Amino acid sequence: MIKYIIASNNKNKAAELDRILNPLGLTAVTAKSEGIDLGDVEETGSTFAENAYIKASSAFERSGVPCVADDSGLMVDALNGEPGVYSARYAGENATDKDRIEKLLDNLKGVPSEKRTARFVCSVCCIIDKDTVITAEGTCEGVIGFEPKGSSGFGYDPVFIFNGDKTFAQLTSEEKDAVSHRGKALRSLCEKLGEYYGK
Ligand code: IMP
Repeated sequence: MIKYIIASNNKNKAAELDRILNPLGLTAVTAKSEGIDLGDVEETGSTFAENAYIKASSAFERSGVPCVADDSGLMVDALNGEPGVYSARYAGENATDKDRIEKLLDNLKGVPSEKRTARFVCSVCCIIDKDTVITAEGTCEGVIGFEPKGSSGFGYDPVFIFNGDKTFAQLTSEEKDAVSHRGKALRSLCEKLGEYYGK
């Protein structure tokens, strides 16, 4: 197993990442579990790809071993792409997922279902050594519901309706992986890593 450090302390993300990379003989562990302090990395990029690179390169500088980072978020058409790269900070620094969902639903008050189109976007950046950077991106189209539904997943999952049917929070993790922005981005990354390692 080749070990990758995940440049995130978000356990949900780490678990999703590990699940998807495992079949390739790669294991993804959190920086924390390896005793690596990621410090405070400011996500100053204006795109998900820029932020993923900022996080991966900072972790690589601190650890010296292969690192993978993702940056993701929700883009809502009726809000001109917001919350976008600010998805995690949408309702302020110490807000909860519930606060962020409330703010999103408030900002969409009066917007009819056909105009509530949105997409999740995920950029991943993998730094293998100082000369080798591999990137990938995935998106998933959906619609923002009028109220939260379901209890699995995290973040905006309870209001993101996929396929006009269930929210992401009403899917099992396997069902979500199969269609999600992160699933797509990581499978694309896996393919590229497979080519790199000759597998
Ligand atoms: P970051 O990628 O850690 O900077 O933050 C991304 C933010 O976007 C998360 O805190 C969530 O609010 C949101 N987000 C990203 N991916 C998902 C997902 O799969 N489900 C729900 N919310 C997500």
